[in-house]
Amino acid sequence: TWGEIREQLQKRVGKNNYTTWIEPLKLSQLKNGVARFEVPTSFFGDWVLRNYGDHIRNHLNAAGQTVDRLEFAVTTGGTVAPVAAAKPVARAKAAPKSRLPDEELPGAPLDSRFTFDSFVVGKPNELAHAAARRVSEGGPVSFNPLFLYGGVGLGKTHLMHAIAHELQTRQPHLRVLYLSAEQFMYRFVQALRERQIMDFKELFRSVDVLMVDDVQFIAGKDSTQEEFFHTFNALVDQNKQIVISADRAPGEIKDLEERIKSRLQCGLVVDLHPTDYELRLGILQQKAEFYREQYKGLKIADGVLEFLAHRITTNVRVLEGALTRLFAFASLVGREITLDLAQDCLADILRASDRKVTIEEIQRKVAEHYNIRLSDMIGPKRLRTIARPRQVAMYLSKQLTPRSLPEIGRRFGGRDHTTIMHGVRRIEELMATDSQLADDLQLLKRLLQA
Ligand code: ADP
Ligand code: MG
Repeated sequence: TWGEIREQLQKRVGKNNYTTWIEPLKLSQLKNGVARFEVPTSFFGDWVLRNYGDHIRNHLNAAGQTVDRLEFAVTTGGTVAPVAAAKPVARAKAAPKSRLPDEELPGAPLDSRFTFDSFVVGKPNELAHAAARRVSEGGPVSFNPLFLYGGVGLGKTHLMHAIAHELQTRQPHLRVLYLSAEQFMYRFVQALRERQIMDFKELFRSVDVLMVDDVQFIAGKDSTQEEFFHTFNALVDQNKQIVISADRAPGEIKDLEERIKSRLQCGLVVDLHPTDYELRLGILQQKAEFYREQYKGLKIADGVLEFLAHRITTNVRVLEGALTRLFAFASLVGREITLDLAQDCLADILRASDRKVTIEEIQRKVAEHYNIRLSDMIGPKRLRTIARPRQVAMYLSKQLTPRSLPEIGRRFGGRDHTTIMHGVRRIEELMATDSQLADDLQLLKRLLQA
């Protein structure tokens, strides 16, 4: 059965690809050598055909069917629209074709919820938002690329999708291509394997707007970087807009070629800062509004959203997840959402985001990271290989705990508060120029706060 074949495909393509691309497929017909699937969009069918078509066909055949062609039909809310992507699996070596404006691009699907309307603007993201808005107007290119960076869940992907939606509304003829760096690599490797590299190049150079999400992914992947660099340059030369996102600034991405780093810095580099209380509350209010419509009649007591905005500070995804769970739970038990209910229902999330980092933990993690003894953290050694990590631990203690300088001094073997202050300042200074150190700190912070 299709169910069993799907299971086998999961082993072949991996869990993530499976969930995204294979699981949603519905086999609706199997006859005369044609297997027909229902898919949510024609792009989806196209993507599955290109990337998994051979696997699907092979597995069907191995299971005793004779299938030589796959067809995909788009389902729109129950009704099946005419077949959108029905191509033979065998790829004919076609002559280079000229690109039509409405031809489907091999990008990733856009999330229809990620629009500018649903993006809440606050101090931490106002610059990124303004820059994204500017790009989405589709006017003359004023900075290239737009480079957005920031931690997990701060809205990078949301903004990129919003740009794509807006451009498509304003200028439907524009060829806007959005995809993750991982997908870029995947397509590149596939093109190499199938000797279709010219097609690949032609396609990527034919877009009007290219958006690559999570570009840090291609760090260390040499040939993909190389191709990315050429694509990037070709588009910039044609004055086509490029938008890139990453989890850190261009200069801080390890194992990324220097020439790419400097290219990425050429345009406008903006970061999304960690959320503040107001922004979190704004996001919650907007979400709650949406849920109030969905779960009609469900009440939410005053102060609940404020409580959540105050207590869940890690990332927006967690915040949204909390609210989703809260509404689902309240509607299930048919109760008003009160503080008590929230505390009960979200106990695990609240506990996780409550966790306080201690100086001891910081010392332990830092010692581990730099491969020195824990006892050296508090000991007297002045060797740089030990003194520097010790200063890092001092800095993190100041940043991540509410302890005062004298208190921190006591935990570092009874050092004076001026020594601690000096250590903290030293790290601050070094961080500005030493990207290795900045990376280390970012990593340590993340580990300690996880
Ligand atoms: P990133 O790509 O930076 O990791 P995402 O764009 O995927 O983060 O955002 C994570 C979730 O948080 C998404 O559901 C997104 O809609 C939401 N989100 C983040 N920032 C905002 C914001 N300012 N307004 C509304 N929703 C936001
Ligand atoms: Mg993202």
